[in-house]
Amino acid sequence: MKNKDFYRLIEVSGTPRDMGLQHGRQLRARIHRTVQAMRERIGPEAYEASWRSFQQTARYCRANVPELVEEMEGIAEGAEIEFRDVLNVNAHLDLANWRRLVWNAHNETDATACSSHAVVTDSDVLLGWNGDDWHGWMDCGVVVRGRPDRGQPFIYWSLAGSLGRPGMTPHLALGANSLPSPRWRADGLLYPMLCRKLLACCSAEEALEVFHRYPRCSAMNYLIADRSGLLIDVESTDDRHAVLSPQHHGPGSYLLHTNSYLDASLTESQLGPQACPRLTAAQRLYAEKTPADVAEVREIQSDHTGGICVHEPEACTIVSFVAEIRPGRFHVTRGNPCQAPVRTYSLHAE
Ligand SMILES: [Zn+2]
Repeated sequence: MKNKDFYRLIEVSGTPRDMGLQHGRQLRARIHRTVQAMRERIGPEAYEASWRSFQQTARYCRANVPELVEEMEGIAEGAEIEFRDVLNVNAHLDLANWRRLVWNAHNETDATACSSHAVVTDSDVLLGWNGDDWHGWMDCGVVVRGRPDRGQPFIYWSLAGSLGRPGMTPHLALGANSLPSPRWRADGLLYPMLCRKLLACCSAEEALEVFHRYPRCSAMNYLIADRSGLLIDVESTDDRHAVLSPQHHGPGSYLLHTNSYLDASLTESQLGPQACPRLTAAQRLYAEKTPADVAEVREIQSDHTGGICVHEPEACTIVSFVAEIRPGRFHVTRGNPCQAPVRTYSLHAE
């Protein structure tokens, strides 16, 4: 197996600025590639115009999550790139929403998709996530393992230059799926920032507080599983959120989510699962046989009967992971889980 078959792992530690500098220096070339791809995909004109709106976001974040802005400044310095380019990498999904709702001023849904599954087994709590997106992002992805001066160790997958995304800590694991955003809000947290705030929590219950504290730029769904076995799913718009729970708790309980709202109070769009075949498929497969270990979660992530494993001309499942929360193991594939080899990263430095 060659290294290019897997996502590269980097280590960062120390203060927010230290972590940013280390991130930027280690991934300089890949961050430049990510910025270039972002500019091309958003369109150079829209990319330039977005700064006016996102400057307001930067000001909001500087006032409310200064440590995450310091980390982004460190990334920019380490990668020898402008701060606004790093902000735009972190605004990946938010920028797509901004382009759709502000720049183009219309409301068709975007193509980005994902699936999140959490399940309590007899001995562990597992969280599986498929990230489905443009296949070109596979050359921009990375696994980041962090050991901040203050707070929990973490490990996550994201694009180079990004502060966070789904991942895990000793306390919990996180999955996320985009939801149709009815509007775009400038003074809120970007998706990777909210992920980092959630990964800094010690329980699923504490993670709920994050949604009361910070508005979001875009709508997004977050699935959180903690080591005690508490599973919660939070559907969030810019300023509202709804919490979903499994039908029962304890071994055998599970919670599944894809890209359609399940809570009618948040949307006028069609509610899942009828709105999303990947959710219908996951619900059927979990009801038939609830996964009892990592391999069985992976099998469902690789499903083609309902398209959970995405193979499209322009898009695919670019990353798939299963987090084993109690032992702190993060099993990741670069590309479709049905065929890509798995690399296991320990949450704790080897
Ligand atoms: Zn597949």
